Amino acid sequence: SDGVPLVAKGRLTTCTHLPYPPFQFERDGEVVGFDVALIDRVAKNLGVEQHIVDTPFENFKTGAFLNSGQCDLAAAGMTITDERRKNVDFSIPYFDATQALLATADSEVTTLAEVRSGKKRLGAQSGTTGESHAQEQGFDPVAFESADAVLNGLRTRQVDAVVIDYPVVQGWLKDPANARTFRLGRSIDTGERYGFSVKKGNDKLRAAIDQVIEESRADGGYERLHREWIGP
Ligand code: GLN
Repeated sequence: SDGVPLVAKGRLTTCTHLPYPPFQFERDGEVVGFDVALIDRVAKNLGVEQHIVDTPFENFKTGAFLNSGQCDLAAAGMTITDERRKNVDFSIPYFDATQALLATADSEVTTLAEVRSGKKRLGAQSGTTGESHAQEQGFDPVAFESADAVLNGLRTRQVDAVVIDYPVVQGWLKDPANARTFRLGRSIDTGERYGFSVKKGNDKLRAAIDQVIEESRADGGYERLHREWIGP
C-alpha cells in the first residue's frame, strides 16, 4: 500500500455513521454512496479493499476511533471545523454543503426566525453542524442520535422542524412519500465543506485521499459520481 500505514493488513478501514444518504447508506446489504465511492478509489490506488465500520456519530468529535486504531479514516459527510481539527487531520474539502430547515408538510415554518416566533420545537442530530448552528442562533434543539432518528422525530411530531444537512434532505425528498410528509424550508448558507479525516499526523494517507479528490475532479470521475449519487 505504498508505505501508507493501515490499521488492518490489506484493508482500508473506514469509520462512518449510517445511514447518511446519499453519502453512505445500505442498499441490498451493502454500504454504498458518494463518500464510499470516492474512498473506494483511494483503496484501489493503495491496492487494498475498503472495509466500512459503522460507529456512533459521537466518536467523530474526538477522533477516538482513529487514535485507538479502529479505523484509518472517517467518511461521514463530515464538515471540516476548527474544533474537529484539534483532534483529527482533514483532507482537502470534497463537497460544499448548506443546512436545510425541514418541517412537516402542514407547517408554515420555513425559517429559523419563524421557528422562534411561532414557539415551535426544533430538532437536530446530536454533535452535528446543524445542531451547533441552531445553538449559535440561540436554540436548544432536541437532540437525535442519527439522521434517520431526526427524520423520524419530525414524522412522529416530537418536533415541528429540524436543521439538517441540505443534500441529505434533498435525497429524502426524492421519495414521494417523504415529499408528501415534509416541507423543505429555506436553505441556510453556512458555507460548510465536507472533508475526510485521518489520525493527526497521518500525512501519507491524507495525501493519498487528497490525490483522489484532485484527480477525480480533473478526470471527470468526481462529476460522474456526483451525478450518480447526488444528482446533476
Ligand atoms: N455535516 C454534518 C456534520 O459534519 C453532519 C454529518 C453527519 O451527520 N454525518 O456535523
